[in-house]
Amino acid sequence: KSSISHQDSDLHSRGWDDVSVYNAKKKNYAWFQAPDGKWELAKIISVTGTESLIAFSETKVLKVQSDCLLPANPEILDGIDDLIQLSYLSEPSVLYNLQYRYERDMIYSKAGPVLVAINPFKTIPLYGDDYMHAYKRKKIDSPHVYAIADTAIREMIRDEVNQSIVINGESGAGKTETAKIAMQYLAAVRGGSGIEYEILKTNPILEGFGNAKTSRNDNSSRFGKLIEIHFSEIGRIAGASIQTFLLEKSRVVQCTEGERSYHSFYQLCAGAPPSLREKLNLKSAHEYKYLQQSNCYNISGVNDAEEFRIVVEALDIVHVSKEDQENVFSMLAAVLWLGNVTFQAVDDNNHVEPMIDEALLTVAKLLGCEAENLQTALSTRKMTVMNENIIKRLNLTQAMDSRDALAKSIYSCLFDWLVEQINKSLSAGKRLSGRSISILDIYGFESFDVNSLEQFCINYANERLQQHFNHHLFKLEQEEYIQDGIDWAKVDFEDNQACLSLFEKKPLGLLSLLDEETTFPNATDMSFANKLKQHLSDNPCFRGERGKAFTVHHYAGEVKYDTTGFLEKNRDLLHSVAIQLLSSCTCKLPQIFASSMLSLTEKPAVGSLNKSGGADSQKLSVTLKFKGQLFQLMQRLGNTRSHFIRCIKPNDSHASGIYDQQLVLQQLKCCGVLEVVRISRSGFPTRMTHQKFARRYGFLLLDHVASQDPLSASVAILQQFNILPEMYQVGYTKLFFRTGQIGKLEDTRNRT
Ligand code: ATP
Ligand code: MG
Repeated sequence: KSSISHQDSDLHSRGWDDVSVYNAKKKNYAWFQAPDGKWELAKIISVTGTESLIAFSETKVLKVQSDCLLPANPEILDGIDDLIQLSYLSEPSVLYNLQYRYERDMIYSKAGPVLVAINPFKTIPLYGDDYMHAYKRKKIDSPHVYAIADTAIREMIRDEVNQSIVINGESGAGKTETAKIAMQYLAAVRGGSGIEYEILKTNPILEGFGNAKTSRNDNSSRFGKLIEIHFSEIGRIAGASIQTFLLEKSRVVQCTEGERSYHSFYQLCAGAPPSLREKLNLKSAHEYKYLQQSNCYNISGVNDAEEFRIVVEALDIVHVSKEDQENVFSMLAAVLWLGNVTFQAVDDNNHVEPMIDEALLTVAKLLGCEAENLQTALSTRKMTVMNENIIKRLNLTQAMDSRDALAKSIYSCLFDWLVEQINKSLSAGKRLSGRSISILDIYGFESFDVNSLEQFCINYANERLQQHFNHHLFKLEQEEYIQDGIDWAKVDFEDNQACLSLFEKKPLGLLSLLDEETTFPNATDMSFANKLKQHLSDNPCFRGERGKAFTVHHYAGEVKYDTTGFLEKNRDLLHSVAIQLLSSCTCKLPQIFASSMLSLTEKPAVGSLNKSGGADSQKLSVTLKFKGQLFQLMQRLGNTRSHFIRCIKPNDSHASGIYDQQLVLQQLKCCGVLEVVRISRSGFPTRMTHQKFARRYGFLLLDHVASQDPLSASVAILQQFNILPEMYQVGYTKLFFRTGQIGKLEDTRNRT
């Protein structure tokens, strides 16, 4: 077969090792990238000039350009538990090493200070009391969530510094499971007062109300979560507090084929006891329009009725009274019944009014309001025109929007209220030391066919988290160098500040421009898109696209955003008629919801609204609120020592044992694992104590002096083998090598 020229011109610009640094010998192996992008391990048979003859098996031999090969690591490094220890840190080496481990159920690996967790999609015997004890006593040192949690505890106590465990990864990668595993470890080794049990019981509640089946994960968290676990003076768990971010509200009123709305609805419909069903006039899930539209009611392997029982038990444990529980379920039923409210025309101008039927009457009863008031709230809007209040009647689309807006608001207020109750219960009367470990389980970078405001916010958050990640690792790396007396100025680090500035710059950043446009009553998604193009086109992280779209160059890749619906979603208004309705309700929760919404709502800014009858009151926009939360989060994390866990989804079919290289590679890039590897490469990632080095290679010394101390022996070895001075640094306790150097010594060692 004739030679194949190389497909991946990008290979060297990435700065990976060149095969020429690799002394190609008969028994050596190299990585070859097949035209489909897959990396294959090949044996180098011979090298002539710029060409190499490589073999994949007895029968498959290829002649290729040597520069399309990447050196493979010596076999002794196969399955090594820290990727940084690999001599050659190329993409295929990293991918192969993770795969090697994954196939042996070693789902956890390290990339320097980062824990990489690959979702096994099956039960693996790595958890439970025995393992916890072993990690606690340091009897095992293989990478594990337990080890991370244990380090966090130790460092919190030893250094009196608050800790955080930051978990990231795409949907279905295992973030929430990993967070629970970390919580279980903390509870098991630092519990005692019983509060840890309560903390663990928040999971079924938050998952019930905030998780849903999506196409990517049967139990997908539709919100971000930070749980801060507090410790007492003697280092025992004493309480906790939870903060949530950006619940996906739209799911309450619309969801795609094959997905589900929030678990809570199906759990209630399946599990409510007869007396409750009667009170709530509850039907089966099939009877509610909001749940019908996606034509999916069940999740295989999940029993919603049983889950309902578990949630109720958990609510008992976090001290939500039976009466309040009933209020919660009333709100769920009210939302479901709202979806069944239908409208009829009342005049020739397309104005509509809700039909007075079972749905409307049930909603009114569940909220504790008059049916007429509900009718008015769903079919009119109050506006101020020229300082005069007028009532505007709605057409069918507007009325359905107002109905859906009410349903979404009730649900998201309910979720927030539950979190507040949980927080009250977890913090009540606790003696805290001010020491804590926070666990962050937040959506990873997202890039879909169509990306909207949700992805815009999520990806912005990930830029911030990425910066935190970079800064933190940079600092850690520096500390290690300084401790060992190494000159760390020789290390370069990448930065995503340019993209963050694109978002945050005032007044001409994405967020400011979005907010400005959101407050203009005549603004449209198109005018917003044009404004971005007008002001940001010379920013290298930004590109205007045809129509209403724009592209942002994120650290993890380019994402094209479609501005359709951006302004509407960002305003997220519940009109004042609806807020008034809620505040007039006789039930407890609607009243609480109304007052929380009113506290967020300010009087309209002079001249900014209402001229054309747009919104009738103004509140903090979604992005502005999110930015505030994010800044608070970053500040909190900034005051902690962070431990990073990157979850990886090995395949899209939720199957165990399948390792899709391209999918894994994409995620390693997105969550910065390759970046860590690269950061380490630009420094001196391979480290070995003088003792170990002298022991392993000392016998290679020509004039072997047994009595030499490890440091002198090490230096002698380095000199004898002509390791270039810029390739290593001699620290107080360790030798620091650039990548590939140990590989050379290993070759020599094997030949001897
Ligand atoms: P999302 O962003 O959609 O919330 P996620 O990253 O939180 O996704 P999880 O819900 O934690 O993903 O995990 C998805 C599924 O993967 C779990 O329901 C479980 O079946 C499986 N899984 C994850 N981690 C593990 C593990 N350590 N052991 C066994 N199965 C796991
Ligand atoms: Mg999750």
